[in-house]
Amino acid sequence: MRLSQKADVAYLALRQAIMEQALTPATKLPEDPLAEQFQISRTLVRAALARLASEGLIEMGNKRTATVAQPSLDEARAVFEVRRCLEAEVVRLVCQRWQPAWRAPLEAHVSQEQAAAAAGQANVSIRLAGEFHTLLGELSGNPLLTRYLSEVTTRCSLILAVYGRPHSSDCAVNEHRQLIDALARQDAAEATRLMASHLEGIEQRALLPRGRRDEQDLGSILSQYTRSVESR
Ligand SMILES: [Zn+2]
Repeated sequence: MRLSQKADVAYLALRQAIMEQALTPATKLPEDPLAEQFQISRTLVRAALARLASEGLIEMGNKRTATVAQPSLDEARAVFEVRRCLEAEVVRLVCQRWQPAWRAPLEAHVSQEQAAAAAGQANVSIRLAGEFHTLLGELSGNPLLTRYLSEVTTRCSLILAVYGRPHSSDCAVNEHRQLIDALARQDAAEATRLMASHLEGIEQRALLPRGRRDEQDLGSILSQYTRSVESR
């Protein structure tokens, strides 16, 4: 495996572990153990951490020790405000530019979400649900909008993983299916309405703090995620 690929594995494994809350907020991510874990230099570890920091998933402390980000409720509200604006524009553009070939991949993604929910993998299904929105962003055909939405959706998934109360994921999956139907009919008014109420539901679920988990072993969590990223 090339060095740059190893750096990508480090970035992806950390990202997935954070998004699925295997690594909980405030967990320290020191450079040396990470370099050893992923068998890369500290420079490459820093590059991977910088990418995660730019997505709002980790915070760099004053002694340059990274920790998993712990967004406050005020930050969470601000992120959702921005997300509502971006998603409304995404829905408008996707409706306008809709192509029938888009339906199958969107539906396949929702089936994956449903399978994760049925298997009781709540945090996997949160991540997949976020990726559904990123997918819609890509279909908008506007790269800048796609990038901003991807960043905001990632932050929302982290917020939901941190603050979200346990809920039935079926609801979200059904809402995604309804959204696909409205987009496929190019019914912009209905799609916009569905998206607005869908996002309101997500925001409401992101309000109750949950208990923290116990101390965790960084090495064993990351080996699991490294394997999962490499086997893709
Ligand atoms: Zn959704």
